[in-house]
Amino acid sequence: MTHAPILPGQTIGVLGGGQLGRMMALAARRMGYRIVVLDPNPRCPTAQVSDGVVVGALDDHEAAILLAKQVDVVTLDTEHVPAEILDAIEQYAPVRPGPSVLRTIQDRQVQKQFLDQLGVPQAAWAPVDSELGLRASLEAFGGQGIIKHRRSGYDGKGQLRVDKISETSNAWSWLRGTEAVIEDIVPFTREISAVIARSVLGEVRAFPIAENVHRKHILHTTRAPAQLAVEASQRVNDIALTIAEALHHVGVLAVEMFELPSGELLVNEIAPRTHNSGHFTWGACATSQFEQHVRAICGLRLADPRMLSGSVMVNLLGDLWAKGTPAWRTVIDRPEAHLHLYGKVAPAPGRKMGHVLLLDDDTDRALEVAEQLIQSLTVS
Ligand code: AMP
Repeated sequence: MTHAPILPGQTIGVLGGGQLGRMMALAARRMGYRIVVLDPNPRCPTAQVSDGVVVGALDDHEAAILLAKQVDVVTLDTEHVPAEILDAIEQYAPVRPGPSVLRTIQDRQVQKQFLDQLGVPQAAWAPVDSELGLRASLEAFGGQGIIKHRRSGYDGKGQLRVDKISETSNAWSWLRGTEAVIEDIVPFTREISAVIARSVLGEVRAFPIAENVHRKHILHTTRAPAQLAVEASQRVNDIALTIAEALHHVGVLAVEMFELPSGELLVNEIAPRTHNSGHFTWGACATSQFEQHVRAICGLRLADPRMLSGSVMVNLLGDLWAKGTPAWRTVIDRPEAHLHLYGKVAPAPGRKMGHVLLLDDDTDRALEVAEQLIQSLTVS
C-alpha cells in the first residue's frame, strides 16, 4: 500500500491533551505542522500550544469525528481512548496507531495474552475471576502478588500489592467487581525501558535504552544511556522490535522491562505512544521521541536517534507545590539543567507537573544532582 506523506503545513489531530501531546505539538509546530487537540479542558497542556481545540470527552464520538474531519492524521496522547472511537473516525483520517493496537494494549489481560503468544517473557500472571481463583493464584506465587485493574490504570493507580494469603478476602473486596489480573512479584535488580519508533513505511529506529527508578509506582528518575552490556542492549531492543512488528504499530512505542539478577528480562508493560522514560531524548539525542513520533505517523523517514550527551531526567510531581511555586532558580542556575513544565494549573500529589533534564556524561553525578535538586525544591 502506498502512503502519501503528510507534510509540514498539514494538520495533526491529537486525542487527549496531556504533556505527551504538548511536547509532540511543540516538535510538530517547529517542523511547520498544525495541531488540533481533543480534550475536555480547553486550556489543557496540549491546547496551550495548539492551533485549535475541540472540547469534548475522549469517549465522545461526535467530538472525535469533528476533530478527524479537520485534520490529515490522528494520533494519541493516551492509550485510554476507547478503540471504538478510533474505528468511528478512521473513515475521515488515518489513525496512527490504529484501533487494533489499542485493543491489544489497553486491556492488561489481552496485552499479557498477546505477549505469551509472542513468546516474550513476562512475570507469571493469572486472570482474577473469583475469590477462590485469587487465593489459588496467590498460593501459586508463594503468597504474594500485585493485583492490577485490567483497564485504565497508570502510575500504580488501580493496583494493590498483596503480601499474605490471609489478605485474599480484603483484596477481593477492594476490587468491587472490577476486572483484574494478578502478577507474581518480580525480584528485579533494575527497571529499564526501550523506546523505539516504527513508521507507516515500516522503518524502525531505537533510542538508547533507559534505566528507570520508580517511587510509589511513579517514575522518579531515568538515566540514559542505561549501564548495560552491548549484548543485553541488543536483547532489550529485539524484544521491543518484535512487539512493534507483531502489533503493526505506527509511532513511538515504549516497552518497560524488569532485569533479574540473572540478567534475564521480563516485560512489565507496553505503552503504544511516547513515554515518560523517553523524555531524555528531547535534549540528549539528535532527535526527540516527539519529533520521531511525528515523522513515523506522517510517513516521513525516521531521523537519527543517536545520543549527544549522557543524561538524567527527574520528574517534578505536584507534591513539590505543597508550599507554593517551587524556587526554580535552584534548577535554572545550573548550566547542565533544563526545566520543562507542562502548563498544568492544578498541582496535586503524584501529578506529573514537569521534569528536569540534566545533561552530563557522568550520569552517576547527574543522579546525585537530581536528588539534590528535588530535595532543595521540596524544602523551598
Ligand atoms: P506499572 O504501572 O504496572 O508499570 O507498575 C508501576 C511500578 O510498580 C513498576 O515500574 C514497578 O516498579 C512496580 N511493579 C509493577 N508490577 C510489578 C511486579 N509484578 N513486581 C514487582 N514490581 C512491580
